[in-house]
Amino acid sequence: MGSIILFGPPGAGKGTQAQRIVDRTGQPQVSTGDMLRAAVAAGTDVGIEAKGYMQSGALVPDEVIVRIIQERLTEPDAALGVMFDGFPRTIPQAEALDRIETIDAVISIEVPDDEIVGRITGRYTCKSCGRVFHDLHLPLPKTGCPCGSFEELRRADDSEATVRARLETYHAQTRPVAEHYDRAGVLHRINGVGDVEEISNAILAALGVE
Ligand SMILES: [Zn+2]
Repeated sequence: MGSIILFGPPGAGKGTQAQRIVDRTGQPQVSTGDMLRAAVAAGTDVGIEAKGYMQSGALVPDEVIVRIIQERLTEPDAALGVMFDGFPRTIPQAEALDRIETIDAVISIEVPDDEIVGRITGRYTCKSCGRVFHDLHLPLPKTGCPCGSFEELRRADDSEATVRARLETYHAQTRPVAEHYDRAGVLHRINGVGDVEEISNAILAALGVE
């Protein structure tokens, strides 16, 4: 049994779906950031090597990342494969991953850019308790937040221009990698607009774990 890969732009609900996939498949969710931190903390040979790059402010080379993944895949909880989150980001990384692990399925959660911009830019939080509101879907009540506060906080990096720039970066990075897996016949494009439950069901059906 191999592993799966989950892709999705910021604001597509990837975190929620990732949790549901993990609950159903039992495959742990692994991100390169988490794996790097764990390897560094564990002080393995490759962890020590990675730490050297990080301390000098350099990017950790793909070859080192792949060895960290290789190590992670030998852990008992990865016996049934893992769910890669945010990896691979490049074709060389995908090719390196192909050499060490079978990829059974790649799930790409797809949401039109305009929809994501609407979701993210309308979002704000209560300044005192952090509750999340949205201009259209869940506006702050006239009586204020349930915590008693009337003060809202909007993140500057949630402006439309910033969100569109983030999406551009995402598409530019993801497109070639998605095509790589499409050629391998394992890419599933899942419509990420609509009911959370229905989206989960579509993903689980694509994974064959209905
Ligand atoms: Zn509040």
